[in-house]
Formats: sequence, C-alpha cells, structure tokens
Amino acid sequence: MRPFFYDRATDAEQALDLARQPDSRFIAGGTNLIDLLKNDVQQTSRLIDLNRAGLAAIEATADGGVRLGALARNSDTANHPLVRQGYPLLTQAILSGASAQLRNMATNAGNLMQRTRCPYFNDPAFDRCNKRVPGSGCAALEGFSRSHAILGASAACIATHPSDMCVALAALDAVVLVRGLQGERRIPLAEFHRLPGSQPQLDTVLAEGELITAILLPPSPYREHSHYLKVRDRASYAFALVSVAAGLALRGGRIEHASVALGGVASKPWRVPGAEAALIGQRVGTKGFERQAAAVAEALLAGAHGYKDNQFKVLLAHRAILRALQLAAEATGGVV
Ligand code: SF4
Repeated sequence: MRPFFYDRATDAEQALDLARQPDSRFIAGGTNLIDLLKNDVQQTSRLIDLNRAGLAAIEATADGGVRLGALARNSDTANHPLVRQGYPLLTQAILSGASAQLRNMATNAGNLMQRTRCPYFNDPAFDRCNKRVPGSGCAALEGFSRSHAILGASAACIATHPSDMCVALAALDAVVLVRGLQGERRIPLAEFHRLPGSQPQLDTVLAEGELITAILLPPSPYREHSHYLKVRDRASYAFALVSVAAGLALRGGRIEHASVALGGVASKPWRVPGAEAALIGQRVGTKGFERQAAAVAEALLAGAHGYKDNQFKVLLAHRAILRALQLAAEATGGVV
C-alpha cells in the first residue's frame, strides 16, 4: 500500500471541503476500497473518513417513500422495518450479497461505488486493463470472460457491476442524492452508473469531489409481489452470473404496473424503458402472462451477445427473467 494522508470529516460540509484537495477519496466501510489500495489497483493521496459524518439515518419521507442515508450499513438498511415492509425486494437483494460480516461494514453509498470484480482489473500483474490503466487494452476480451457483460459493453471494456442492491434500487426507481461544492443534485439510479464506451475508467456520472448523501425510494407498488432472483456458482458469498429484480402491482389478479431490472449482465443495472409494457393488463398465472413475460425478456435482452466464455448468459438471463416474474406473481408480500 502506498502512503496517503488521512482526514476524518464530522459532517458533509467538512467532507466536501476536505475533498478540494486533489486526488482525494471518500471512505466509509472500506470493504472494497481498502483491498484496492492494498493491492495497488487504486491509489490515492488522501482518504477522507466519513464514518463520523452522520448521514446514516433511514427515515420515512413526506411523499410516503423512504430516505436511506448514504452511510447506513447494508445490514441496517436490509433489516430496517420501513425497508422490510415497504421494499422487500431491496431487503432480499441486499441479503443475497456478500457475507453478514461484510454487510455489517459496507454502506449504502459504498455499495453504489464498488468496483468491478473483473479479475484482470483486480490484479495489477495483468498489464492490459483499460479500466485500471486507460489505453492499455482489455485482457478479458481474449481471456477468461465467464463473469463478463452481455449487454452495453464496448471494445474497450466488457466488465460488469457487481452490486445486488443496485439492481433492486433500479427496479424501484430509486434516486441518488448527491452534494458537491455547486450544490445538490438528484440522479436516477438507472443513470448513475456508466456504460464503458471509450472511457471505462469512469464507473459513474459523479463529478470530482461530489458526495453521495442519501438514496431516495419513492412509494413502491411492489410491496406484495416482488422477487430478487440471483443465479451464481455457489449458494452464498458469490457474485451474480445473472440476477433479476422483478416487481408486479396487481389488482384483481391483473397486472397494473411491472418493473424488471437485470444484474450481472452489464456495467450498470440493466433496465429498458417500456420493456415491461407487454405485461400490463395480463392476468397472472395464464398463458398470456407467460407469453408476455417472454416478450419482456426479449425486450430486455435485445442486442445481447456473449464473448468467449459467457455466451450461456444470454439464455440464462432469459430463463431467469421468466422465473423471477413467476415468483413475483406468486409472492404473498410484505415482510420477508
Ligand atoms: Fe479491464 Fe474492463 Fe477489460 Fe476487465 S473487462 S480487463 S475491467 S478493461
């Protein structure tokens, strides 16, 4: 690990002020960043510790939604009564990720900011990684690509984003609240992470020095019928090969609203505007529901293609979408 300065912020304003120093990084749970610094995957001149900066409250909002503090731990978020009762999809997604010990340390903002687990990115022994060393190439294109993207990738990078939480947040239309020296702005979760394009070193749309202060959840119509399906190589402590966050709002057995987001398939949680429209008006448990669920899968996976080792993911994702929608329809709701 290379030497760096360490500062501790006691509130958001002080954190922003400290971040004026060039090459500063915020740290909270440190469950990903410490590894990256120790392994020399990332470097920094200054760490700004946010653990005593407040920002950890989870509270109801006036519109009937919930505000998740950026510094709330993943465990506290997953198990909070407001989340368990109103957003069981989010509870299920968070609890499917990492281990209990990691969830006790990792924060909500840190979950959004975690980096890809592409093995070539995480090991500086490999020379070619455009995300770690821009312009160096992409070892995964000809290397082992089992865990890599099938959607939204570029010739410069085919990495995936590893978060489960973010997939549920995308399906729930969450908004990221961000503060910078120029003031506050709101970024829809679905627009927070970037596709790689020619600049895969940039994971998100955050500007230099901006701080995530909260995640806003609008009131959810998916309290009763939702499911997070995670397909992975082993039953726990593994990243998703493919995951699906599915929510259905039913009235009299017919679908009024639907939301589906995919994980493990791109550098961001994957949603396609209007993809769920085919399900509206369908009665769950019917042939029509099955047919339209397949249409949703087709829309979400339009343009999907694999690389050397991950072509299986396209069919796997299609089947996972159908299964997640079926399980969401069968769910009996509320508290998980
Ligand atoms: Fe690096 Fe992206 Fe290629 Fe992995 S897929 S080696 S992160 S450029």
